[in-house]
Amino acid sequence: MSDSVFKNYIAGEWVEGNKGNLANISPADTSDVIGHYAQADKAQTEAAITAAAVGQAEWAKSGLERRYSVLMAIGDELVARKDELGELLAREEGKTLAEGVGETYRSGQFFHYYAAEVLRQMGETADSVRPGVEIETRREPVGVVGVITPWNFPTATGAWKIAPALAFGNAVVFKPANQVPASAWALTEIISRQGLPAGTFNLVMGPGAEVGDVLINSRGINALTFTGSLETGRKVAMATAANLVKCQLEMGSKNALVVLDDADLDNAVECAVGGAYGGTGQKCTASSRLIVTEGIHDRFVAAVIERMKKLVVGHPLKAGVHIGAVADARQMEQNLGYLDSAKNEGGTLVYGGEVLTEETEGYYMQPALFTNTTNAMTINREEAFAPIACVIKVKDYAEALATLNDTNFGLTGGICTASLKYATDFKRNAKTGCVMVNLPTAGTDYHVPFGGRKDSSFGPREQGTYAKEFYTVVKTTYIRA
Ligand code: NAD
Repeated sequence: MSDSVFKNYIAGEWVEGNKGNLANISPADTSDVIGHYAQADKAQTEAAITAAAVGQAEWAKSGLERRYSVLMAIGDELVARKDELGELLAREEGKTLAEGVGETYRSGQFFHYYAAEVLRQMGETADSVRPGVEIETRREPVGVVGVITPWNFPTATGAWKIAPALAFGNAVVFKPANQVPASAWALTEIISRQGLPAGTFNLVMGPGAEVGDVLINSRGINALTFTGSLETGRKVAMATAANLVKCQLEMGSKNALVVLDDADLDNAVECAVGGAYGGTGQKCTASSRLIVTEGIHDRFVAAVIERMKKLVVGHPLKAGVHIGAVADARQMEQNLGYLDSAKNEGGTLVYGGEVLTEETEGYYMQPALFTNTTNAMTINREEAFAPIACVIKVKDYAEALATLNDTNFGLTGGICTASLKYATDFKRNAKTGCVMVNLPTAGTDYHVPFGGRKDSSFGPREQGTYAKEFYTVVKTTYIRA
């Protein structure tokens, strides 16, 4: 049990929360109090925004090598401390140690990638249509960036937003999800030692309705990047639009993996199990719908069940565990509600779904598989964010594709097939931002764009070189010599 208090970071100072402290309790062991995290109020959030404008003006003037070095140093430290910080992440979020370490390492890679991007900021030149006049276009920092993140990737989501924000000369006001403040605080502590101008980076922990509300309604924020639920995303879009503040939203999804008759069965099973249950199913890229053609359906279901029997659920830090804890009591209750709804609407629970008792008091459930589901059922329409996957049996490829696209979401979509014809058609016609062929729907790289369509995303893409669309503004200059 830890009595330590972890403060907010505003204007280059560690400050206590005007709203007291919040205990950070591990969902894997409710007797494990990770620490107490300062809760900012509206005035402190506003102070952070004001400080950010001051810091940004200085940071934007810093040379490229300085920015490169800062980002490299942050990346180096995340990579070097991946085991320690990965363990902290696993304790507070509930995912396995391997997933926590992997996420921390990946977060370091985001900083390394954007360190290199600092040195690749090129403009363009053009001749004017007016003789004797030349034109240049260049990108400038957008200014103060508000960063609001969810609980399921406590370090990585912050990293893939903060790294490009700093790389392009912006200041940041970071509001992590209140369920996982420890990883955000650890990242902030690393950033706080880089000698940035005061205010360039600020951490304001607290509830969405208090701290988040100030950020999304502030005219002092120039760009707001948000990852979280569709419901909150809509609020962010409306609030920022009212102030004409640039916004970028990454929200939920209802991803599907299509398995065709000609698929390599072993690979399809690995894709389905890894994609559906990895991270306890709490991934925006999780394949919660498994759309399977008739010819392979029974063999596929039998093989997935056999594979699921080998999944070990348990405390995230225990060796040999594949599936950690559900994030909190509310998420657990929601998962059980979705299990009931799938059963009540006619789905057949063929494996799992039990609430498990472990040595430590926490939120554990056996991953669940349903068959006999239709795409119209609630469980196949709404994002459950749970270790629950539903098989939808279809006649052929055409029906599989139509079913995959029949959703208001569109983040990732996958297909397992040996057919070039179907893979090619799928690649072109899946209405998702990311398409995976013979790969799980979850698991993306850090150097290429990430994002979705329909209700999954809004605004410019995140990650890779595409991130500059959001984190910069273009200036066009006309010159007559
Ligand atoms: P959430 O929407 O409840 O919260 C996300 C963040 O928004 C938190 O920091 C929260 O405090 C803040 N927030 C809540 N209400 C707010 C308000 N009124 N104003 C401003 N901020 C507010 O989401 P969550 O439960 O933390 O995360 C799960 C969701 O995130 C899922 O829907 C998942 O699909 C999504 N997600 C999407 C991606 C992606 O890249 N598409 C990645 C990870 C998670």
